[in-house]
Amino acid sequence: EAHKETLEFKAEVSQVLDLVIRSLYSNKEIFLRELVSNASDAAEKLRFEALSDDGLYEGESELRIRVEIDKEAGTLTVSDNGIGLSRQEVIDTIGSIASSGTRRFVEALSGDQAKDSKLIGQFGVGFYSAFIVADKVTLISRRAGLGAEHGVRWESDGRGSFTLETLEKSGRGTDVILHLKEDEKEFLDAWRLRSIIGKFSDHLALPVEMRKELYGEEAEKAKDAPPEYEQVNRGTALWMRNKSEITEEEYHDFYKHVSHDFDVPLAYAHNRVEGTNEYTTLLFVPKRAPWDLWERDAKHGVKLYVRRVFIMDEADKLMPHYLRFVKGVVDSDDMPLNVSREILQHNRKIDTIRQANTKRILGLLETLAKDEPERYGEFWDEFGRVLKEGPAEDFANKERIAGLLRFASTHSESDAQRESLDGYLERMKDGQEKIYYITADSAAAARHSPHLEVFRKKGIEVLLLSDRVDEWLVSHLTEYKGKTLHSVAKGDLDLGGLADAEEKEAKEKAAAEHGGLLERLKSTLGERVDSVRPSTRLVDSPACLVVGEHDMSANLARVLKAVGQ
Ligand code: ADP
Ligand code: MG
Repeated sequence: EAHKETLEFKAEVSQVLDLVIRSLYSNKEIFLRELVSNASDAAEKLRFEALSDDGLYEGESELRIRVEIDKEAGTLTVSDNGIGLSRQEVIDTIGSIASSGTRRFVEALSGDQAKDSKLIGQFGVGFYSAFIVADKVTLISRRAGLGAEHGVRWESDGRGSFTLETLEKSGRGTDVILHLKEDEKEFLDAWRLRSIIGKFSDHLALPVEMRKELYGEEAEKAKDAPPEYEQVNRGTALWMRNKSEITEEEYHDFYKHVSHDFDVPLAYAHNRVEGTNEYTTLLFVPKRAPWDLWERDAKHGVKLYVRRVFIMDEADKLMPHYLRFVKGVVDSDDMPLNVSREILQHNRKIDTIRQANTKRILGLLETLAKDEPERYGEFWDEFGRVLKEGPAEDFANKERIAGLLRFASTHSESDAQRESLDGYLERMKDGQEKIYYITADSAAAARHSPHLEVFRKKGIEVLLLSDRVDEWLVSHLTEYKGKTLHSVAKGDLDLGGLADAEEKEAKEKAAAEHGGLLERLKSTLGERVDSVRPSTRLVDSPACLVVGEHDMSANLARVLKAVGQ
């Protein structure tokens, strides 16, 4: 007896669905990409689980996806023979989209269609895109390894509840049946579907099949025979193809597939490494930061494959943390198929791959910075604060990362971070030995600090640092190309070769003449200050506070206080 029940969606589902439908309507054919990509994920999961239990194949190891149309019934079906879902898995994954990701999706919606449609894939609401074109969706599935009697049928109109019943399903895997809305019947057209599949799924390492179109006599003859299928996508993993045969558009489509981004990438690198450690990498730098870039457990965007078998998502050992925004694929020929996260922790091959990946991305960014400084500036505004974590994390590449950093500076009126350290070095004055910077909690506060007076007077450039991560950065990046970085607010300002004799004289004179005043100030301020000294720092202001050469900067003290330390 099929045990049928009606279950309520967890909170917010109808609300989310409405938003999904509205924000994606102008891009509605992406529902097919989402369903095909779920089918492909299901195939990859099966392949992976079958590595340790090949009984899961049930004698059918050729994995494929099928797209079928039934014009009379008005349905479009996407089927796979992948891992399938158990009854409980259906409830947990399809029946509840009130995950924290979904809630964030709702919060992140801006009302701007173009922007919102970019968000959808990132929040794992892909399956629900079916409701853009369907007023009812039926999902029939059976988990690999369970008996045929453990099939499950889920159905919903997307309006708050769904039904669930048990049924017999001989073939393993999942069928998603879309009952198309009256005005979405265009998706019953085979040619339209073929062109969408070509666009979104050519690079999948899995065949997507449709029924062979037969005409006239042929059709007549085949009337009672079982249907014949033919592959409509290319079906080879894109990264395994020869670079010279891949068009830019194909790279872009593949990027959209791995990243769930709707935009094209900023840059990419595709490489094959031969030798004792053979592998292929295809890495992308996105244009925009993902919503979780600053979450403590932000997702990493690189997928690991071993000989075309998908091993894991978010392989965080393949990229350093400060490059966590990079998306793409690493496919190793030499790793064991049963690698686990634990094995990855201490694997020399993985370390080598990470180092090479790091160099590739740094190289990509260097080229972009050199050839297209404006686009690099856009990259910097999105990801600069992440890159600034680099010098602390990656000692070996410190200098290269430092070369990629951009700052606001007194060289320009704008607070945009566009000045490089190399540019600074070129503009240094004769006799200047240090790279000067000031930290503050905003670019404006930095720019108006009295500490800058003497630098302005002498025309010496000062970098204006006001990102939270800057204190961390300068505590690890203490020099660049042999020049030390020096805070203008720290210690006795020693301008070295830049101080002129006049100033030295004035300072000594002040110390002699105002010795009494300085002592009185010191004794009044008591413990609150270390010392009161005459200074050549100031031009217009009468006095300013400085911290000792080796003390915590005033700004860092402020930051720590703000976070309760
Ligand atoms: P995402 O793919 O980002 O996880 P989706 O909304 O597309 O989000 O799918 C939600 C979940 O439903 C998937 O993670 C998977 O567990 C399950 N699922 C969807 N389609 C299939 C399928 N064809 N086979 C197996 N599981 C599926
Ligand atoms: Mg999906």
